[in-house]
Amino acid sequence: MLFARIFTLYPEFFPGPLGKGLYGKALAEKIWKLETINIRDYATDKHKTVDDTTYGGGSGMLIKPDVLANSLDKNLKTKEKIIYLSPRGKLFNQEMAKKISNEETVNLICGHFEGVDQRVIESRNIEEVSIGDFILSGGESAAFVMLDAIIRLLPGVLGNETSTEEESFENGLLEYPQYTKPQIWEEKTVPDVLLSGDHAKIKDWRLSQSEAITRDRRPDLWQKYKKN
Ligand code: SAH
Repeated sequence: MLFARIFTLYPEFFPGPLGKGLYGKALAEKIWKLETINIRDYATDKHKTVDDTTYGGGSGMLIKPDVLANSLDKNLKTKEKIIYLSPRGKLFNQEMAKKISNEETVNLICGHFEGVDQRVIESRNIEEVSIGDFILSGGESAAFVMLDAIIRLLPGVLGNETSTEEESFENGLLEYPQYTKPQIWEEKTVPDVLLSGDHAKIKDWRLSQSEAITRDRRPDLWQKYKKN
């Protein structure tokens, strides 16, 4: 079972889409578990202040280190993995999703305003992870993205166990085009090879399509693939 703990100023966002469909079912079956911690509950003054101005100037506010550290210290048991969703972090990818899906616990901190005080990142050994080169208003949508990618890898979540094995990134390539019924739609038919029943030929066709698409759309992946 994967235990995901979310530190957020907006606990009401969760589980949101992660509580529905297959993921909701997996939650009920205890394949994964979610706990949402409201960072504001760990503020120490009577106004429940969570943020303050930035030293050195700048218009933005930061989440205070004492409040965030308090929320972590009161909830984390042992040495658990702590991730702060941040545009400055290591870029999230399928490999990272797989690694985290093998952990027992993952803690995700959703930032807001301009982010969090640097000292808490260092003192609590927090890893920074980004979901892409763009700026969001808060870490919650990034946490949804990460958890979505992670949860579908947990055994028993997807009906068809093999369905995660042939997808984009699994072999370093993007996925080949796929077709379903009807065989002719708006006068377009599906590629003949897929109707041939020749499994070796189909495999070759799919690989060559994957290679062409990757070369065209993702030169970065293509360079890596060619090296291996
Ligand atoms: N001042 C920061 C951006 C703050 S955005 C900087 O320039 O790096 C506010 C919050 O949104 C962040 O604390 C973070 O938790 C979240 N966030 C924004 N963009 C993100 C991204 N690409 N990946 C993950 N989290 C992100």
